[in-house]
Amino acid sequence: MNIKIDPWSALNIDDYSKLFDEFGILPFDDIVREIEDPHKFMKRKIIFGHRSYELITDAMKKNKPFSVMSGFMPSGNIHLGHKMVMEEIIWHQQQGGDAFVGIADREAYSVRGISWDKCRDIGINEYIISLIALGFEANGHIYFQSKSEQVKDLAFELASKANFSELSAIYGFTGETNIAHMLSAVTQSADILHPQLGEYGGPKPTVIPVGADQDPHIRLTRGLGHKMNMFKIEGRKDKNGNKYFSIRSKAAPQDALKELSERIPGKTKRFEGHVDVFNADTFELLLQTVREVETEFGGYAFVPPSSTYHRFMSGLQGGKMSSSAPDSFISLTEDSKGAAKKVKRAKTGGRTTLEEQKKLGGEPDKCSVYEMFLFHLVDDDEELAQIYTECREGSRVCGNCKLLAAEKTEKFLREHQELRELAKDKLDDYGL
Ligand code: SF4
Repeated sequence: MNIKIDPWSALNIDDYSKLFDEFGILPFDDIVREIEDPHKFMKRKIIFGHRSYELITDAMKKNKPFSVMSGFMPSGNIHLGHKMVMEEIIWHQQQGGDAFVGIADREAYSVRGISWDKCRDIGINEYIISLIALGFEANGHIYFQSKSEQVKDLAFELASKANFSELSAIYGFTGETNIAHMLSAVTQSADILHPQLGEYGGPKPTVIPVGADQDPHIRLTRGLGHKMNMFKIEGRKDKNGNKYFSIRSKAAPQDALKELSERIPGKTKRFEGHVDVFNADTFELLLQTVREVETEFGGYAFVPPSSTYHRFMSGLQGGKMSSSAPDSFISLTEDSKGAAKKVKRAKTGGRTTLEEQKKLGGEPDKCSVYEMFLFHLVDDDEELAQIYTECREGSRVCGNCKLLAAEKTEKFLREHQELRELAKDKLDDYGL
Protein backbone atom coordinates (compact mmCIF):
# COMPACT_ATOMS: atom_id res chain seq x y z
CA MET A 1 0.00 0.00 0.00
CA ASN A 2 1.43 3.33 -0.90
CA ILE A 3 -0.53 6.45 -0.07
CA LYS A 4 1.10 9.78 -0.49
CA ILE A 5 -0.18 12.68 1.55
CA ASP A 6 0.35 15.95 -0.15
CA PRO A 7 -0.67 19.03 1.82
CA TRP A 8 -0.91 21.08 -1.34
CA SER A 9 -3.57 18.98 -3.00
CA ALA A 10 -6.97 18.50 -1.39
CA LEU A 11 -6.75 14.74 -1.01
CA ASN A 12 -9.67 12.98 0.56
CA ILE A 13 -8.30 10.46 2.98
CA ASP A 14 -11.15 8.05 3.39
CA ASP A 15 -9.50 5.30 5.38
CA TYR A 16 -7.77 6.93 8.30
CA SER A 17 -6.62 3.64 9.77
CA LYS A 18 -4.12 3.38 6.89
CA LEU A 19 -2.32 6.31 8.44
CA PHE A 20 -1.70 4.35 11.62
CA ASP A 21 0.03 1.53 9.77
CA GLU A 22 1.74 3.49 7.04
CA PHE A 23 3.03 6.50 8.92
CA GLY A 24 3.07 5.51 12.58
CA ILE A 25 0.35 7.92 13.69
CA LEU A 26 -1.08 6.59 16.97
CA PRO A 27 -4.81 6.32 17.74
CA PHE A 28 -6.04 9.25 19.87
CA ASP A 29 -8.45 6.89 21.64
CA ASP A 30 -5.55 5.49 23.64
CA ILE A 31 -4.66 8.84 25.17
CA VAL A 32 -7.94 10.70 25.52
CA ARG A 33 -8.55 9.30 29.03
CA GLU A 34 -5.42 11.15 30.21
CA ILE A 35 -7.17 14.46 29.55
CA GLU A 36 -9.34 15.84 32.32
CA ASP A 37 -11.90 17.66 30.20
CA PRO A 38 -11.26 16.81 26.55
CA HIS A 39 -12.35 19.04 23.69
CA LYS A 40 -15.50 17.86 21.92
CA PHE A 41 -13.44 16.92 18.85
CA MET A 42 -11.47 14.57 21.08
CA LYS A 43 -14.54 12.98 22.66
CA ARG A 44 -16.27 12.62 19.31
CA LYS A 45 -13.28 10.93 17.66
CA ILE A 46 -12.97 13.75 15.14
CA ILE A 47 -9.40 14.03 16.39
CA PHE A 48 -8.43 10.46 15.62
CA GLY A 49 -4.64 10.32 15.81
CA HIS A 50 -1.52 11.84 17.31
CA ARG A 51 2.23 11.81 17.53
CA SER A 52 3.82 12.19 20.98
CA TYR A 53 0.74 13.79 22.48
CA GLU A 54 1.70 12.16 25.82
CA LEU A 55 4.23 15.02 26.18
CA ILE A 56 1.33 17.46 26.10
CA THR A 57 -0.95 15.53 28.48
CA ASP A 58 1.99 15.28 30.87
CA ALA A 59 2.66 19.03 30.65
CA MET A 60 -1.02 19.84 31.16
CA LYS A 61 -1.27 17.55 34.20
CA LYS A 62 1.91 18.84 35.83
CA ASN A 63 1.46 22.50 34.87
CA LYS A 64 4.69 22.45 32.92
CA PRO A 65 5.31 24.78 29.97
CA PHE A 66 4.11 23.71 26.54
CA SER A 67 3.15 25.44 23.32
CA VAL A 68 0.51 25.04 20.68
CA MET A 69 1.20 26.17 17.14
CA SER A 70 -0.52 26.01 13.78
CA GLY A 71 -0.64 28.05 10.62
CA PHE A 72 -2.97 29.17 7.86
CA MET A 73 -2.16 29.81 4.24
CA PRO A 74 -3.87 33.06 3.23
CA SER A 75 -5.26 31.89 -0.08
CA GLY A 76 -9.03 32.27 0.15
CA ASN A 77 -12.04 32.58 2.41
CA ILE A 78 -11.90 31.27 5.93
CA HIS A 79 -14.23 28.27 6.23
CA LEU A 80 -15.41 25.78 8.81
CA GLY A 81 -12.31 23.61 8.32
CA HIS A 82 -10.10 26.51 9.46
CA LYS A 83 -12.45 27.11 12.38
CA MET A 84 -11.72 23.57 13.60
CA VAL A 85 -7.98 24.21 13.78
CA MET A 86 -8.57 27.57 15.46
CA GLU A 87 -10.78 25.99 18.11
CA GLU A 88 -8.10 23.38 18.81
CA ILE A 89 -5.45 26.08 19.21
CA ILE A 90 -7.69 28.13 21.50
CA TRP A 91 -8.55 25.06 23.61
CA HIS A 92 -4.84 24.33 24.17
CA GLN A 93 -4.27 27.99 24.97
CA GLN A 94 -7.01 27.74 27.62
CA GLN A 95 -5.24 24.67 29.05
CA GLY A 96 -2.14 26.80 29.64
CA GLY A 97 -0.30 26.45 26.34
CA ASP A 98 1.69 29.35 24.90
CA ALA A 99 -0.16 29.77 21.59
CA PHE A 100 1.34 30.64 18.20
CA VAL A 101 -0.49 31.22 14.93
CA GLY A 102 1.48 31.77 11.75
CA ILE A 103 0.05 33.22 8.57
CA ALA A 104 1.87 31.26 5.87
CA ASP A 105 2.28 34.08 3.39
CA ARG A 106 5.61 32.69 2.13
CA GLU A 107 3.76 29.53 1.19
CA ALA A 108 0.87 31.42 -0.46
CA TYR A 109 3.37 33.52 -2.43
CA SER A 110 5.54 30.62 -3.57
CA VAL A 111 2.89 27.96 -4.14
CA ARG A 112 -0.14 30.00 -5.23
CA GLY A 113 1.50 33.14 -6.57
CA ILE A 114 -0.51 35.43 -4.27
CA SER A 115 0.97 38.91 -3.87
CA TRP A 116 2.30 40.06 -0.48
CA ASP A 117 -0.40 42.75 -0.19
CA LYS A 118 -3.13 40.25 -0.91
CA CYS A 119 -1.61 37.81 1.60
CA ARG A 120 -1.72 40.50 4.28
CA ASP A 121 -5.27 41.47 3.41
CA ILE A 122 -6.57 37.88 3.45
CA GLY A 123 -4.45 37.00 6.49
CA ILE A 124 -5.92 39.79 8.59
CA ASN A 125 -9.44 40.17 7.24
CA GLU A 126 -10.28 36.51 6.87
CA TYR A 127 -8.17 34.50 9.31
CA ILE A 128 -6.88 36.67 12.12
CA ILE A 129 -10.13 38.52 12.76
CA SER A 130 -12.05 35.24 13.01
CA LEU A 131 -9.33 33.75 15.21
CA ILE A 132 -9.73 36.63 17.67
CA ALA A 133 -13.53 36.46 17.41
CA LEU A 134 -13.40 32.77 18.29
CA GLY A 135 -11.55 33.58 21.51
CA PHE A 136 -7.78 33.56 20.84
CA GLU A 137 -6.30 35.45 23.78
CA ALA A 138 -3.94 38.39 23.41
CA ASN A 139 -1.13 36.67 25.35
CA GLY A 140 -0.69 34.43 22.30
CA HIS A 141 1.44 35.21 19.26
CA ILE A 142 0.12 35.93 15.77
CA TYR A 143 2.63 36.64 13.01
CA PHE A 144 3.22 36.62 9.27
CA GLN A 145 6.07 34.34 8.14
CA SER A 146 7.53 37.06 5.93
CA LYS A 147 7.71 39.48 8.88
CA SER A 148 9.25 37.12 11.43
CA GLU A 149 13.04 37.35 11.43
CA GLN A 150 13.20 34.49 13.92
CA VAL A 151 11.24 32.19 11.65
CA LYS A 152 13.16 33.19 8.53
CA ASP A 153 16.56 32.78 10.22
CA LEU A 154 15.61 29.41 11.65
CA ALA A 155 14.24 28.33 8.25
CA PHE A 156 17.63 29.08 6.71
CA GLU A 157 19.42 27.02 9.32
CA LEU A 158 16.97 24.15 8.95
CA ALA A 159 17.42 24.28 5.18
CA SER A 160 21.07 23.40 5.74
CA LYS A 161 19.87 20.05 7.11
CA ALA A 162 17.30 19.29 4.39
CA ASN A 163 18.21 18.07 0.94
CA PHE A 164 16.29 17.78 -2.30
CA SER A 165 15.95 13.97 -2.14
CA GLU A 166 14.33 14.15 1.27
CA LEU A 167 11.90 16.89 0.27
CA SER A 168 10.95 15.17 -2.96
CA ALA A 169 10.38 11.85 -1.15
CA ILE A 170 7.97 13.58 1.22
CA TYR A 171 6.26 16.06 -1.09
CA GLY A 172 6.83 14.66 -4.54
CA PHE A 173 8.91 17.70 -5.59
CA THR A 174 10.42 17.42 -9.05
CA GLY A 175 12.99 19.33 -11.07
CA GLU A 176 10.14 21.70 -12.04
CA THR A 177 9.34 22.69 -8.45
CA ASN A 178 10.42 26.24 -7.73
CA ILE A 179 12.99 26.77 -5.01
CA ALA A 180 10.79 29.16 -3.03
CA HIS A 181 8.25 26.35 -2.74
CA MET A 182 10.97 24.16 -1.20
CA LEU A 183 11.97 27.00 1.07
CA SER A 184 8.35 27.39 2.15
CA ALA A 185 8.42 23.75 3.33
CA VAL A 186 11.36 24.43 5.65
CA THR A 187 9.78 27.74 6.67
CA GLN A 188 6.86 25.75 8.01
CA SER A 189 9.27 23.59 9.95
CA ALA A 190 10.67 26.81 11.40
CA ASP A 191 7.12 27.88 12.29
CA ILE A 192 6.67 24.65 14.19
CA LEU A 193 10.01 24.73 16.02
CA HIS A 194 10.36 28.43 16.79
CA PRO A 195 8.17 28.35 19.95
CA GLN A 196 11.15 26.49 21.46
CA LEU A 197 13.63 29.31 20.87
CA GLY A 198 15.20 30.96 23.90
CA GLU A 199 13.00 34.07 23.46
CA TYR A 200 9.99 31.89 24.26
CA GLY A 201 11.50 29.97 27.14
CA GLY A 202 13.57 27.36 25.32
CA PRO A 203 12.90 23.68 24.57
CA LYS A 204 9.43 22.48 25.45
CA PRO A 205 6.72 20.19 24.09
CA THR A 206 4.74 21.83 21.28
CA VAL A 207 1.56 20.45 19.79
CA ILE A 208 0.53 21.11 16.21
CA PRO A 209 -3.19 20.49 15.62
CA VAL A 210 -3.65 19.73 11.94
CA GLY A 211 -5.65 17.81 9.38
CA ALA A 212 -4.14 14.48 8.42
CA ASP A 213 -2.96 15.92 5.09
CA GLN A 214 -0.43 18.04 6.97
CA ASP A 215 1.49 15.10 8.42
CA PRO A 216 4.36 15.42 5.93
CA HIS A 217 5.26 18.77 7.51
CA ILE A 218 5.28 17.15 10.93
CA ARG A 219 7.50 14.28 9.83
CA LEU A 220 9.92 16.59 8.07
CA THR A 221 10.07 18.87 11.11
CA ARG A 222 10.62 16.10 13.61
CA GLY A 223 13.50 14.88 11.46
CA LEU A 224 15.01 18.35 11.07
CA GLY A 225 14.67 19.11 14.78
CA HIS A 226 16.52 15.91 15.55
CA LYS A 227 19.30 16.74 13.07
CA MET A 228 19.77 20.20 14.58
CA ASN A 229 20.32 18.89 18.09
CA MET A 230 23.85 18.51 19.45
CA PHE A 231 23.20 15.37 21.44
CA LYS A 232 21.20 12.23 21.29
CA ILE A 233 20.61 9.87 24.19
CA GLU A 234 20.75 6.13 23.62
CA GLY A 235 19.74 3.41 26.05
CA ARG A 236 22.38 0.64 26.08
CA LYS A 237 23.41 -2.50 27.94
CA ASP A 238 26.93 -3.50 28.99
CA LYS A 239 28.31 -7.01 28.52
CA ASN A 240 26.74 -8.08 31.82
CA GLY A 241 23.33 -6.87 30.76
CA ASN A 242 23.37 -3.75 32.99
CA LYS A 243 21.51 -0.81 31.50
CA TYR A 244 23.11 2.58 31.04
CA PHE A 245 22.66 5.70 28.93
CA SER A 246 25.09 6.90 26.34
CA ILE A 247 24.88 10.57 25.41
CA ARG A 248 26.25 10.81 21.92
CA SER A 249 27.55 14.04 20.52
CA LYS A 250 26.45 14.83 16.99
CA ALA A 251 27.99 18.24 16.66
CA ALA A 252 28.70 19.31 20.21
CA PRO A 253 31.88 21.18 21.13
CA GLN A 254 34.26 19.18 23.37
CA ASP A 255 33.67 21.71 26.16
CA ALA A 256 29.96 20.91 26.09
CA LEU A 257 30.71 17.22 26.55
CA LYS A 258 33.05 18.04 29.43
CA GLU A 259 30.43 20.25 31.07
CA LEU A 260 27.85 17.53 30.61
CA SER A 261 29.98 14.87 32.28
CA GLU A 262 30.61 17.21 35.22
CA ARG A 263 27.03 18.29 35.64
CA ILE A 264 25.20 14.99 35.41
CA PRO A 265 24.79 13.64 38.93
CA GLY A 266 26.10 10.14 39.61
CA LYS A 267 28.66 8.03 37.82
CA THR A 268 29.67 9.11 34.34
CA LYS A 269 32.52 8.32 32.00
CA ARG A 270 33.59 10.70 29.26
CA PHE A 271 34.95 9.47 25.94
CA GLU A 272 35.75 11.33 22.80
CA GLY A 273 32.34 11.97 21.30
CA HIS A 274 30.16 10.57 24.08
CA VAL A 275 29.46 10.45 27.79
CA ASP A 276 28.14 7.26 29.39
CA VAL A 277 25.87 7.56 32.42
CA PHE A 278 25.60 4.52 34.67
CA ASN A 279 23.13 5.44 37.38
CA ALA A 280 20.92 8.29 36.21
CA ASP A 281 18.35 9.24 38.89
CA THR A 282 15.62 9.54 36.31
CA PHE A 283 15.63 9.77 32.55
CA GLU A 284 13.70 13.04 32.87
CA LEU A 285 16.45 14.64 34.95
CA LEU A 286 19.09 13.40 32.54
CA LEU A 287 17.17 14.82 29.59
CA GLN A 288 16.73 18.15 31.36
CA THR A 289 20.47 18.40 32.08
CA VAL A 290 21.38 17.54 28.48
CA ARG A 291 18.98 20.22 27.21
CA GLU A 292 20.30 22.83 29.63
CA VAL A 293 23.91 22.21 28.60
CA GLU A 294 23.04 22.18 24.91
CA THR A 295 21.22 25.52 25.06
CA GLU A 296 24.03 27.05 27.15
CA PHE A 297 26.45 26.08 24.39
CA GLY A 298 24.34 27.70 21.69
CA GLY A 299 22.33 24.66 20.58
CA TYR A 300 18.55 24.34 20.29
CA ALA A 301 17.82 21.01 22.05
CA PHE A 302 14.50 20.82 20.25
CA VAL A 303 11.82 18.56 21.67
CA PRO A 304 10.27 16.68 18.72
CA PRO A 305 6.95 18.40 18.03
CA SER A 306 3.75 16.56 18.92
CA SER A 307 0.71 16.61 16.69
CA THR A 308 -2.97 15.82 16.63
CA TYR A 309 -4.83 14.85 13.47
CA HIS A 310 -8.47 15.53 12.80
CA ARG A 311 -10.62 14.09 10.08
CA PHE A 312 -12.31 16.33 7.58
CA MET A 313 -15.93 17.18 7.06
CA SER A 314 -17.22 16.17 3.68
CA GLY A 315 -18.66 18.79 1.36
CA LEU A 316 -22.27 19.79 1.89
CA GLN A 317 -23.17 18.08 -1.37
CA GLY A 318 -21.23 14.93 -0.41
CA GLY A 319 -17.72 14.32 -1.76
CA LYS A 320 -14.97 16.77 -0.98
CA MET A 321 -15.20 20.42 -0.03
CA SER A 322 -13.78 22.49 -2.82
CA SER A 323 -13.12 26.19 -3.12
CA SER A 324 -14.29 26.00 -6.74
CA ALA A 325 -17.70 24.67 -5.60
CA PRO A 326 -19.14 27.33 -3.25
CA ASP A 327 -22.14 25.14 -2.36
CA SER A 328 -19.79 22.53 -0.89
CA PHE A 329 -18.58 24.64 2.05
CA ILE A 330 -19.56 27.44 4.39
CA SER A 331 -17.32 30.41 4.87
CA LEU A 332 -17.29 32.28 8.17
CA THR A 333 -17.56 35.58 6.33
CA GLU A 334 -20.43 34.78 3.98
CA ASP A 335 -24.01 36.00 4.26
CA SER A 336 -25.70 33.99 7.02
CA LYS A 337 -28.99 33.62 5.14
CA GLY A 338 -27.22 32.35 2.01
CA ALA A 339 -25.30 29.86 4.15
CA ALA A 340 -28.56 28.62 5.70
CA LYS A 341 -29.89 27.99 2.18
CA LYS A 342 -26.82 25.90 1.37
CA VAL A 343 -27.54 23.75 4.42
CA LYS A 344 -31.13 23.28 3.27
CA ARG A 345 -29.80 22.01 -0.07
CA ALA A 346 -27.24 19.69 1.55
CA LYS A 347 -27.00 15.98 0.88
CA THR A 348 -28.54 13.95 3.68
CA GLY A 349 -28.45 10.33 4.71
CA GLY A 350 -32.23 10.14 4.33
CA ARG A 351 -34.10 7.45 2.41
CA THR A 352 -35.89 8.05 -0.87
CA THR A 353 -39.38 8.05 0.63
CA LEU A 354 -40.83 9.01 3.98
CA GLU A 355 -42.20 5.49 4.43
CA GLU A 356 -38.74 4.00 3.92
CA GLN A 357 -37.24 6.54 6.32
CA LYS A 358 -39.76 5.55 9.00
CA LYS A 359 -39.21 1.85 8.39
CA LEU A 360 -35.42 1.71 7.95
CA GLY A 361 -34.30 4.90 9.68
CA GLY A 362 -31.86 7.41 8.19
CA GLU A 363 -28.08 7.06 7.84
CA PRO A 364 -26.52 9.86 9.91
CA ASP A 365 -23.03 8.50 9.22
CA LYS A 366 -23.52 9.36 5.55
CA CYS A 367 -25.27 12.68 6.17
CA SER A 368 -23.57 16.04 5.72
CA VAL A 369 -26.25 17.72 7.86
CA TYR A 370 -25.41 15.38 10.73
CA GLU A 371 -21.75 16.21 10.20
CA MET A 372 -22.61 19.88 10.66
CA PHE A 373 -24.21 19.04 14.02
CA LEU A 374 -21.32 16.78 15.02
CA PHE A 375 -18.47 19.13 14.09
CA HIS A 376 -19.93 22.58 14.64
CA LEU A 377 -23.54 23.13 15.56
CA VAL A 378 -24.26 21.03 18.66
CA ASP A 379 -22.02 21.27 21.71
CA ASP A 380 -24.26 19.27 24.00
CA ASP A 381 -23.45 15.55 23.71
CA GLU A 382 -26.94 14.50 24.82
CA GLU A 383 -28.64 16.64 22.20
CA LEU A 384 -26.33 15.17 19.56
CA ALA A 385 -27.02 11.61 20.73
CA GLN A 386 -30.74 12.31 20.54
CA ILE A 387 -30.47 13.50 16.93
CA TYR A 388 -28.47 10.40 16.05
CA THR A 389 -30.85 7.98 17.73
CA GLU A 390 -34.00 9.59 16.32
CA CYS A 391 -32.46 9.50 12.86
CA ARG A 392 -31.50 5.83 13.12
CA GLU A 393 -34.91 4.91 14.52
CA GLY A 394 -36.74 6.67 11.71
CA SER A 395 -38.59 9.12 13.93
CA ARG A 396 -36.71 12.08 12.47
CA VAL A 397 -37.55 13.67 9.14
CA CYS A 398 -34.79 15.16 6.99
CA GLY A 399 -36.79 18.29 6.08
CA ASN A 400 -37.19 19.40 9.71
CA CYS A 401 -33.70 18.29 10.54
CA LYS A 402 -32.20 20.42 7.77
CA LEU A 403 -34.32 23.33 8.93
CA LEU A 404 -32.85 23.03 12.42
CA ALA A 405 -29.32 22.84 11.01
CA ALA A 406 -30.00 25.86 8.78
CA GLU A 407 -31.28 27.90 11.75
CA LYS A 408 -28.29 26.95 13.86
CA THR A 409 -25.90 27.80 11.02
CA GLU A 410 -27.50 31.19 10.49
CA LYS A 411 -27.42 31.97 14.21
CA PHE A 412 -23.78 30.92 14.53
CA LEU A 413 -22.69 33.02 11.56
CA ARG A 414 -24.68 36.06 12.66
CA GLU A 415 -23.12 35.93 16.13
CA HIS A 416 -19.65 35.19 14.80
CA GLN A 417 -19.83 38.09 12.40
CA GLU A 418 -20.86 40.42 15.23
CA LEU A 419 -17.84 39.20 17.21
CA ARG A 420 -15.67 39.78 14.13
CA GLU A 421 -16.72 43.44 14.15
CA LEU A 422 -15.54 43.74 17.76
CA ALA A 423 -12.33 41.83 16.94
CA LYS A 424 -11.39 44.41 14.29
CA ASP A 425 -10.86 46.96 17.06
CA LYS A 426 -8.61 44.59 19.00
CA LEU A 427 -5.91 44.03 16.36
CA ASP A 428 -3.57 46.42 18.18
CA ASP A 429 -3.65 44.20 21.26
CA TYR A 430 -2.08 41.46 19.13
CA GLY A 431 0.61 43.71 17.70
CA LEU A 432 -0.98 43.75 14.23
FE1 SF4 B 1 -29.44 13.53 8.24
FE2 SF4 B 1 -31.27 14.50 9.89
FE3 SF4 B 1 -31.99 13.18 7.67
FE4 SF4 B 1 -30.90 11.88 9.70
S1 SF4 B 1 -32.86 12.94 9.72
S2 SF4 B 1 -30.39 11.65 7.56
S3 SF4 B 1 -29.44 13.39 10.49
S4 SF4 B 1 -30.91 15.13 7.79
